[in-house]
Amino acid sequence: MRQTLAREVTNLLERGRDRQLRLAVTGLSRAGKTAFLTSLVNQLRHAGLEARLDLMACAREGRLLGARRVAQQDLAVPRFPYDEAMAALDETPPRWPDPTRGISELRLQIRYRPGRHGLLGMVAADSATLTLDLFDYPGEWLLDLPLLEHDFLSWSERQQAALTPARRELAAEWLEAVADLTPDAAADEAELAAIAERYAATLRAAREAGFADLQPGRFLLPGDLAGAPVLQFFPLPGIGEADRQALEALPEDSVYHTLSRRFAHYQQHVVKPFYREHFRRFDRQIVLVDVLGALNAGPERFEDLSRALATLMRSFHYGKRSLVSRLFAPRIDRLAIAATKADHVTPEQHTNLVTLLEALLAEPIQDLRFADIPVKALSLASIRATQSREVERQGRRFPALRGTTQAGEEALLFPGEVPAQIPEADFWQRQGFTFDHFRPLPRDARGDALPHIRLDAALDWLIGDKLA
Ligand code: GDP
Repeated sequence: MRQTLAREVTNLLERGRDRQLRLAVTGLSRAGKTAFLTSLVNQLRHAGLEARLDLMACAREGRLLGARRVAQQDLAVPRFPYDEAMAALDETPPRWPDPTRGISELRLQIRYRPGRHGLLGMVAADSATLTLDLFDYPGEWLLDLPLLEHDFLSWSERQQAALTPARRELAAEWLEAVADLTPDAAADEAELAAIAERYAATLRAAREAGFADLQPGRFLLPGDLAGAPVLQFFPLPGIGEADRQALEALPEDSVYHTLSRRFAHYQQHVVKPFYREHFRRFDRQIVLVDVLGALNAGPERFEDLSRALATLMRSFHYGKRSLVSRLFAPRIDRLAIAATKADHVTPEQHTNLVTLLEALLAEPIQDLRFADIPVKALSLASIRATQSREVERQGRRFPALRGTTQAGEEALLFPGEVPAQIPEADFWQRQGFTFDHFRPLPRDARGDALPHIRLDAALDWLIGDKLA
């Protein structure tokens, strides 16, 4: 009798409480998503053992018992390659994991002891489980949101306007190829495919040159759509709103209508499904930003990052009349924004790194707070590759970093000061900023749990309340 009652109480609590959480990780290419997710899984798997998670209340109080991987629910989404990532880090010399290129998923079951003040703690439950579904997807996909506001004609017009002189130069080959194409010609499949490939090459070149605000996002990271006809379109230069009537009257098999159909197909079958099937279902989200990488690359690249982030963050703009809320009613109730690779600078620069990140994202952060969605900005290193040191010179002590460069050389250096605000022109002239890329620490120097900086603070913010 007593046993049945106990079971019923447990069942009730299981149902009453949110036992499952879907946490998504995003950021532009090379922002550090793969490293973040690898480290996150690694830390939780070594929780209660050698993982250092003092900034996570549950771990600090000794209540985090551990985590294991379990089979994911959605069999259509690729599994996040955790073992492959760890294998790369364990090589001699250690290697950074290969980045993921599309969406991937991994499910963890976390066991913890409820705190005395938590709901479960009050009925003295010994231990409880939280199922954590982790998703990783390219931030480039979020750059496609504005594309939903357009039809093919207005999008073409918009893309022409986006061709600044520098981008026009990078697009020279495509512009030449598309110059002979007239909207009223009968569409030739092979020709459109060839021009589309050149357009994709243009976007790739622009990205290589440091531009990030590029559409369509899937052209850069096609995932499993590589080579599919849905990606074989491009904007038509030279057309504008004034031509609408004449263009609409063209035959169905014209270049104009063929490209329009593909554009609409891309909206309906590529962009929208991502929001509908994935984005809308995430509970929590962390957006990773390589602020230091952009500082390192100079003023143009830094400005472009700022524009791209403004576009990317529109997907989290839940104001009543925003495009996202009209279309998808998302349910993300908590967000973290993190400047990654903090181990590239000395510790006393970390505060500036966060204020700089907050300055970069000032508007989106304000919008989120206005919409009552808690948001936290922080700096972290998912996999710390350097050690902080002090060097003495002429009787004075200076902070420095020690690490092994990608070329295999031991280095002891001071990479520079991080500005606390969006840098003015004189910052770039005065000092700029330089850092090397470091190799991850070898296994014998780091042990089983990956060294990190404040990954535990991010975890506490993102899932801590579910482990209360
Ligand atoms: P993704 O494209 O967003 O998945 O980015 P990755 O996780 O592959 O990271 C890109 C690169 O940034 C890696 O290959 C590393 O060189 C570097 N990186 C990422 N995280 C860290 C970190 O915590 N510390 C250091 N020093 N480098 C990092």
